Amino acid sequence: MPQTLHSRLLILGAGPAGYTAAIYAARAGLQPRLVAGLQPGGQLTITTEVENFPGFAEPIQGPWLMEQMQAQAIHVGTTIEQDVITQVDLGRRPFRCLGDSGTVYEADALVIATGAQARWLGIPGEKELSGFGVSACATCDGFFYRGKDVAVVGGGNSATEEALYLANLARHVTLIHRRDSLRSEKILQRRLFEKPNVTLLWDTAVEAVLADASGRVPVARALALRNLKTGAQSELAVHGLFVAIGHDPATALFRGQLAMDAEGYVITQPGATRTSIPGVFAAGDVQDKVYRQAVTAAGTGCMAALEAEKFLAGHAQEAALAAQ
Ligand code: NAP
Repeated sequence: MPQTLHSRLLILGAGPAGYTAAIYAARAGLQPRLVAGLQPGGQLTITTEVENFPGFAEPIQGPWLMEQMQAQAIHVGTTIEQDVITQVDLGRRPFRCLGDSGTVYEADALVIATGAQARWLGIPGEKELSGFGVSACATCDGFFYRGKDVAVVGGGNSATEEALYLANLARHVTLIHRRDSLRSEKILQRRLFEKPNVTLLWDTAVEAVLADASGRVPVARALALRNLKTGAQSELAVHGLFVAIGHDPATALFRGQLAMDAEGYVITQPGATRTSIPGVFAAGDVQDKVYRQAVTAAGTGCMAALEAEKFLAGHAQEAALAAQ
């Protein structure tokens, strides 16, 4: 018999936004329940050093930071559920979320902090060779390319950081970008340009990942490239390709129920985390395509908890008045 768990506040997502919402809600006595989802810890678990999260004079490791946030959330009274929500019904209160485990999570208020996921190129060979030469996480998979030749595609902070990380492990790193300049922070660019084993390929698209099928399983051996200015095609021999071209918000579950923009980001009221449904709040990357930082995600997580607390207090008052 599937169980139903009721909470005053349910939080979906275990990144900086979700944990911060949990910490604030727990300290406000809301006894929040947090469903961790597919990637507990969120994007920071696939990050290397973090040196821009305030409070730490020395660089810290992303996964360590997330372990600390989780421990803090539990310490102040959050219940963490290792489950993945597969269906939601926001049409009536209490809101209902169905977990992959069969558990139904009911809640008087909901914080959506499901974050965003890595984007893929969608080119031939990418999916087939995923895990066999294609990755979206240098921190997770860089180790396998020690002393080998790799490429990174993208021109933002993620691509630059991935290339910097890999430059310390791989023999050679080629950063491939479709424009003639990077959009990453200048300090990261400077560090990258100083690396002797990094080459930049500008105005270039990766059109396919080519496989070496001579072994037991096919593995990546080269990339098919095209210069976007001249149209010239070429091949680059690599053992690995790291895709770092941005993210998509994890909002498929809420489609058709909550107001979203054309890219699928949840729309929140300016300066707040309120969504189109009273009692549903959104925090972190799921509603932010501008800043997308751990610290801004944490900030909006705090806002969501404070707004949820206010909402629940108003709700309790209404119920008390109705009962008189
Ligand atoms: P991003 O800033 O959106 O950059 C994505 C890059 O991938 C862009 O250069 C884009 O090219 C390129 N791209 C997108 N689709 C492509 C495609 N189909 N084919 C080839 N190239 C493609 O994403 P991000 O680097 O993941 O960063 C996301 C956010 O997180 C940013 O706000 C960033 O500052 C932040 N971030 C911060 C840190 C840090 O502070 N340490 C670390 C990582 C990320 P165009 O330039 O042509 O659009």
